Amino acid sequence: MVAPHVVATDLQLALNQRQAHIGMRAQESDGDEGVLQASANQDVVEGLAQKGGRGIHVAAVVVRQASCVGRGPVILDRMRIVPVPCFTDNYAYLVFDELSAEGFVIDPSEAEPVVAALKLHHVRLVAILNTHHHHDHVGGNQELLRRFGDLPVFAHRSDVGRVPGLSRPVDEAESFDVAGLRVCPRHVPGHTLGAVAYVVNGAAFTGDTLFVAGCGRLFEGTAAQMHASLNGTLAQLPGETRIFPGHEYTVSNLRFAAHVEPENMRARDKLSWATATRERGEPTVPSTVGDERAVNPFLRCGSPTVRSRFQGATDVDVFAALRRAKDVFR
Ligand SMILES: [Zn+2]
Repeated sequence: MVAPHVVATDLQLALNQRQAHIGMRAQESDGDEGVLQASANQDVVEGLAQKGGRGIHVAAVVVRQASCVGRGPVILDRMRIVPVPCFTDNYAYLVFDELSAEGFVIDPSEAEPVVAALKLHHVRLVAILNTHHHHDHVGGNQELLRRFGDLPVFAHRSDVGRVPGLSRPVDEAESFDVAGLRVCPRHVPGHTLGAVAYVVNGAAFTGDTLFVAGCGRLFEGTAAQMHASLNGTLAQLPGETRIFPGHEYTVSNLRFAAHVEPENMRARDKLSWATATRERGEPTVPSTVGDERAVNPFLRCGSPTVRSRFQGATDVDVFAALRRAKDVFR
């Protein structure tokens, strides 16, 4: 049993390299050991006992206690997001709390790459979140449930019966907590009627609704619905919000964006960057809401350059014409 007055420097002696890093970050974030000492009360010892007395959990509990006394940046900083390439161009995302090593997966297309990522990062899977019911976003659900037990599966309530294992139906802005993180679902119909984007700590997981420089096809919803989901919901998030989409379509989308707005230098610069990035085999995610407002033609239906080429009385008309053009763009 570790005494309740333990501080980060003590913990570092007993922890391995990664855990020591956590201890040092805790010290930096809190400024000095005194804060950690002050927050390491009897609850820390109880937390330690519940978790089997392993040193890493002492550090986690100490830092969590510190974050409860107004050290907000610790909470933001400890979230980790790992893109997990699946199939040919899908991305699942492993999102985890670095301190508790608990995490959830968004859109497991298939189980194996997700299991490999969990092992690599030493993360315990506690939930599955799906942005919509398409097979390339839920294909790994059943296998993950078989391997990891009765995990909660989150998806839009209208997708009950369409998302395998769905046990936690969600709806617009009904926030929930998972793996120590607050998740806010945003209902974004258009690609499908049950499409959801998950907003977590300044990151938005947008599935097949918003891609880097593009958007999903209209399989179930109308152009008006998709336009509202993109422009009325996702584009209204703070500009620094990081966008994690469901597919690596960036180069193709930016080629279309440069075709629509040849004078948009940010789109052309981003195309050059994305092409080089993909040639190195690296992902082009995340983007940001601010970047998307600047380069994504589907968020720019009101701009004079887009309107000049895609005629329509309303922004929704322009959006519908753009979407039709993208469907056949090569
Ligand atoms: Zn889809």
